Amino acid sequence: MNFDSYTDRVVGVAAALVNALTPGEHGGRPVRVDAERAAAVLGRPVGAAEAADLTRLAGRLRPVFLAAEDGATDRVAELVNTLLADYRSEPRLSRHDGEPWHLHFTSAAGTEWGAACATGLAVVVDGQATGRLGVCRADGCDRVYVDVSRNASRRFCSEACLNRTKVAAFRARARATP
Ligand SMILES: [Zn+2]
Repeated sequence: MNFDSYTDRVVGVAAALVNALTPGEHGGRPVRVDAERAAAVLGRPVGAAEAADLTRLAGRLRPVFLAAEDGATDRVAELVNTLLADYRSEPRLSRHDGEPWHLHFTSAAGTEWGAACATGLAVVVDGQATGRLGVCRADGCDRVYVDVSRNASRRFCSEACLNRTKVAAFRARARATP
């Protein structure tokens, strides 16, 4: 499954922000949130104020993935509409760095990434693709993912969580076999 490249990119950033900047667990270990992690997602230095804005945004994106995981599409749409309104997403054609004209979504309020993530998620809802947003099924993990696999088969945030779960299931079966 491929959305257009802009949607792929911003929905990927939405998941990365949730995973970097919301507390919880990753593969059985607690997640510690700090500005360094915001910088790692965006691939550039992030100041304290921007890190705080991004952390706030991540906290609002997480429920979108949780609702999608629960199959609560109406709730997903409601949350995304609220994000679009709060970040005042505005479409704008832009041309830079030798690229052709393309559509950007800017935020008239809050972090730039608010409008971008909200718009990307809106495209996912519009494409009846909220099943592509999920939360890791591994024990001790609550990180999120965007499933871009051809057959929509993804259930884990990472290879590590997939493998850990496989090994645990294998051991459980081995124990159950007399
Ligand atoms: Zn996981």
